[in-house]
Amino acid sequence: MINFNVPLVLGNEIDYLNDAITLNKKICGDGEFTKKCNKWIEENFHVKKSLLTTSCTHALEMAAILAEIKEGDEVIMPSYTFVSTANAFVLRGAKIIFVDIRPDTMNIDENLIEQAITKRTKAIVPVHYAGIACEMDKILEIAEKYDLFVIEDAAQGVMSSYKGKRLGTFGQFGCFSFHETKNYSMGEGGSLLINQERFIERAEIIREKGTNRSNFIKGQVDKYTWVDLGSSYLPSDMNAAFLYAQLEEADLVNNNRLNSWNQYYNSLGELEKKGFITLPTIPEGCTHNAHMFYIKVENSQLRAELIEHLKNNGIIATFHYIPLHSAPAGLEFGEFRGIDNFTTKESERLVRLPLYFGLKKEEIEQVVDAINEFYSK
Ligand SMILES: *Cc1c(COP(=O)(O)O)cnc(C)c1O
Repeated sequence: MINFNVPLVLGNEIDYLNDAITLNKKICGDGEFTKKCNKWIEENFHVKKSLLTTSCTHALEMAAILAEIKEGDEVIMPSYTFVSTANAFVLRGAKIIFVDIRPDTMNIDENLIEQAITKRTKAIVPVHYAGIACEMDKILEIAEKYDLFVIEDAAQGVMSSYKGKRLGTFGQFGCFSFHETKNYSMGEGGSLLINQERFIERAEIIREKGTNRSNFIKGQVDKYTWVDLGSSYLPSDMNAAFLYAQLEEADLVNNNRLNSWNQYYNSLGELEKKGFITLPTIPEGCTHNAHMFYIKVENSQLRAELIEHLKNNGIIATFHYIPLHSAPAGLEFGEFRGIDNFTTKESERLVRLPLYFGLKKEEIEQVVDAINEFYSK
């Protein structure tokens, strides 16, 4: 059987875990491995500050607090995304304004954002779907013109870049996920990337339950106390130890995934030429991380048949997001502004194929053969 995803384990994770437990003897938050992960991210991605969190969901929640999102504010994002992108802002009382996506990348259509802006708009949340960048030049230009926050949901975009700059480093805030379904994992976890100095101190307070504990540890204050809103957003250092073993090998993992992605892309080109399927587009200036390989088929009926056919051949393929604007909570907390030309239609056509570190060439051939067989009938 070919699984859809196999969580990444490289080998060194267990040694580092052991170090955290027996050498460092510190497994709560902000231990040695948490520091190492943050430093690795800051140095390799050229970002002012990385704060490891318990999830990308929590990194998004922190960003929403830092952006001072309040009751009645509007936040613009695509409807084709994970629930956490929206929930983080709904928790602060915001109304979610969904804007249509581009069919080629499944990312928010940068040309539809401006017309969705009102006096209440506070932030734009681009989601880099499949690790392929949104059009950040245009998005930043609009944000500057209307004085809006840009909070990148870069959950899938670790190691990707746009015009030579890493995803997660464009907006005031970027949010990574290290969930086990993502390219690099700590089981459950994430990071908040902060690109402007002025937010760092408050972010550390929010992450430490609303206390100034981190100033206390640095010796800047002589006691620590409750100073602000906050929650417990620090992951255990055991999780960070696991992640660090993977970050150290980030290039190895990235290249392996890209090889698989390219093999799919090249082998399925013939079916695209014949008009049966649509392959993903990597716009100019985007370097991606092969987070996902998807194809789009003609409609949802064919998609169900293809998934079933692959399953009968021992291959697990899956669909993805149900657009948030049509979900019960989406109807309650959000509004689709503009016309849904592509969000619903394109999401119903999308099938994700198996892709993970270590997926074998022969296995990809098997998947491609099964898809070819489906279309030869
Ligand atoms: C995975 C994912 C999240 C949530 O990440 P967690 O670390 O599981 O909280 C948020 N947004 C997108 C686009 C994702 O793919």
